[in-house]
Amino acid sequence: MKFNTKTIHGGQKHDPAYGAVMPPIYQTSTYAQSTPGGHKGFEYSRTHNPTRQALENAFASIENGTYGLAFASGLAAIDAVIKLLKPGDEVISTNDLYGGTYRLFTKVFEGFGVKFHFIGMENADKVESYVNENTKLIWAETPTNPMMNIIDIKALAEVAKKHNILLGVDNTFATPYLQQPLDLGADIVMHSATKYLGGHSDVVMGALVVKDEALAERLYFIQNASGAVCGPQDSFLVLRGIKTLHVRMQRHCENGKKVAEYLANHPKIEKVYWPGFESHPNHEVAKAQMKDFGGMISFVTKGNDYDEAIRIVENMKIFTLAESLGGVESLSGHPASMTHASIPKEEREKTGVVDALIRLSVGIEDADDLIADLEQAIGS
Ligand SMILES: *Cc1c(COP(=O)(O)O)cnc(C)c1O
Repeated sequence: MKFNTKTIHGGQKHDPAYGAVMPPIYQTSTYAQSTPGGHKGFEYSRTHNPTRQALENAFASIENGTYGLAFASGLAAIDAVIKLLKPGDEVISTNDLYGGTYRLFTKVFEGFGVKFHFIGMENADKVESYVNENTKLIWAETPTNPMMNIIDIKALAEVAKKHNILLGVDNTFATPYLQQPLDLGADIVMHSATKYLGGHSDVVMGALVVKDEALAERLYFIQNASGAVCGPQDSFLVLRGIKTLHVRMQRHCENGKKVAEYLANHPKIEKVYWPGFESHPNHEVAKAQMKDFGGMISFVTKGNDYDEAIRIVENMKIFTLAESLGGVESLSGHPASMTHASIPKEEREKTGVVDALIRLSVGIEDADDLIADLEQAIGS
C-alpha cells in the first residue's frame, strides 16, 4: 500500500458487529467477561480500547512501523520514552527543542538522575563526541522548533547503531507525509498528534511508533503502567484527521512555499527560516530526507524589535495568535513570550530565538488571503 492509501485504510478493518466503515467510539472503561479471563481481547480501557487500537494501527501504518501507541498528549508519549531509562543514563538531544520537551527533561527527569546534553545536531560527528558508556538515547527533532534546522536522521542512525543507542525522532513538524524516520534508521518515532495528524485543532494527543518487538512490549508496559492514555472520542477524531493528512499536507506545503517567498522578498524582513530555500544551511539534507518542505516558517523583522513583533502578531486577522500548529487554520506565534518562555533568555538567544522572531503555521486557506493578511500586519 502506498502512503495516501495508508492514511485512509492502513491497519483498519470494518467493524465486525455491524460493518460500520468508521470504527465506533467505544466509550467504555470495561468489558464483560463470561468467566474470569474469558473476554474478547479487551479487559479494561487503560490497557486496550478498540477505538484506540484502530488509531494505534493507523499510526503504525503511516510511519511504516509495526507497533503504534497512543497517549494523552505528545509530552506523555515522550515521558514514556524517557521511562525506558534509569538513573545515571544519558540522553543527547537538540539545543533547539520544543519548549515543553526541554521542560520535561530538565525539570522532571533530571530530578530522577537522567542526564541530558543539549547540542546542535547538524553534524553527526559532533553528536558522536558526546557518546559515552552511559548514553542510552539520542532524541532529535527535525525540522526543529522554531528555527527550522534540519538534522540528518540517517547520519544520526549510523551513530546510534554503532554505539547501540536508541534513536528517537519527534516527527511532529514533518509528519510521515514528508519524512519517515523509521525508514531512515530511527528506532522510535514520536508525534504530538495534537498538530498535523489531528489537523483540526480540536484534540490533544501523542503517538509513538516502533518496529522492534521487545521495544514495543516495554513501551506498551509503560503505557499501561503509567496510564497516560487517550480516550476513545479523541482517538476517533485523530483517526478521522489522519484520513486527510496527505491532502492537507500537500496544501500546507504549497501555501508554505508562497508565504516563505513573499516574506523573503519583504523589505522589512531580516531573515526567513524555511528549509525549502537553497540558502538554508541544510537544504540538501532536507531535500534528501523530506518529500517537500512543509508549512512551518519563522522570520525576524529588521531591527529585532520586541514591541514591533508583538504589534505584528496582534494585527494579523486571518493568522490567529495562538499556541500550537498544524491545524487547517493559519496560526502565528511569538516564541520568546509563548512556546519558549520557559527557556532562559540567554539559552534561547544562543539558538536564534530572538525577541523579534515570529513563527507561522501556514494553514490551508487561500494563499492570497494569507499574504494579504501578512502585508497589512507587517506594513511596508
Ligand atoms: C506540541 C509539540 C510537542 C508536545 O505535544 P503535546 O501534544 O502538546 O503534549 C512535542 N514536540 C513538538 C515538536 C510539538 O510541536
